[in-house]
Amino acid sequence: MAFELAPLPYPSNALEPAIDARTMEIHHGKHHAAYVTNLNNAVAKHPELEKLSLEDLIRDVSKLPEDVRTAVRNNGGGHWNHTFFWQIMKAGGGKPTGALAAAIDAKFGSLDAFKELFGKAAVGRFGSGWAWLGVGKDKALCICSTPNQDNPLMNVADCQCTPILTIDVWEHAYYLNYQNRRADYVAAWWSVVNWTKVEEHYAKAR
Ligand code: MN
Repeated sequence: MAFELAPLPYPSNALEPAIDARTMEIHHGKHHAAYVTNLNNAVAKHPELEKLSLEDLIRDVSKLPEDVRTAVRNNGGGHWNHTFFWQIMKAGGGKPTGALAAAIDAKFGSLDAFKELFGKAAVGRFGSGWAWLGVGKDKALCICSTPNQDNPLMNVADCQCTPILTIDVWEHAYYLNYQNRRADYVAAWWSVVNWTKVEEHYAKAR
């Protein structure tokens, strides 16, 4: 079955003023949609791949048939990353609670200290990519970033973990409103993090 673009889980203006409606519309309706189309074009060349879930498809990306490996890495990664990204945002944001809040305090010292380190990973990613908070094999929280549409599930990624939070730092994610001011976008983005969803990911990853 072909992969499909799900609608945004909220109206395109729901994340304003942190992320404007026009950016969300282009980001979801053009960029994310193109990853889905290009992924489907790639897997259509290998019917056995069409049976796999998206996660199974991108996890062992280095073992994919060579003629579609890069296309699946970029577009399968793009589809997974954006689907995950939409879900970890919502209007109103909030703060982490419970086991996740305790784990953040234990690992990073405080929520503010965590935000500073995560922000550095996001702002410091050269060119296009993503910053991640994930749970490693040791069940500890870790922060990392990946280039392009790679993610920490992929066996080719420098950092291996189960993602629980991410931010897209491609210019298409912020340029209309923030131009070159990536740090301002990252700072504003904290106000729309859906910590309830991040806590769900954390509970599953442990
Ligand atoms: Mn994007």
